[in-house]
Amino acid sequence: MISIACDVCKKKMDDPQTDRNFFYVINHSICEPCKDNLEYQIKSTVRGREPFTMEWYEKLLRDSLGKAIQKGKI
Ligand SMILES: [Zn+2]
Repeated sequence: MISIACDVCKKKMDDPQTDRNFFYVINHSICEPCKDNLEYQIKSTVRGREPFTMEWYEKLLRDSLGKAIQKGKI
């Protein structure tokens, strides 16, 4: 059985393959609540961004996730 932990909140998932509540974002595994929080956090930044590019979005996602992992929360 593979056991992985969320990179942000360190919550352990015993059976991530059947639970389907783990997500891979920019080479990190994060749980569903953390993913929701991350999306919520960057939503206000993404809204109103002109012009919108995938490169910019990925950088924003990577930066936000990096900060969240350092703090241990989003
Ligand atoms: Zn988490």
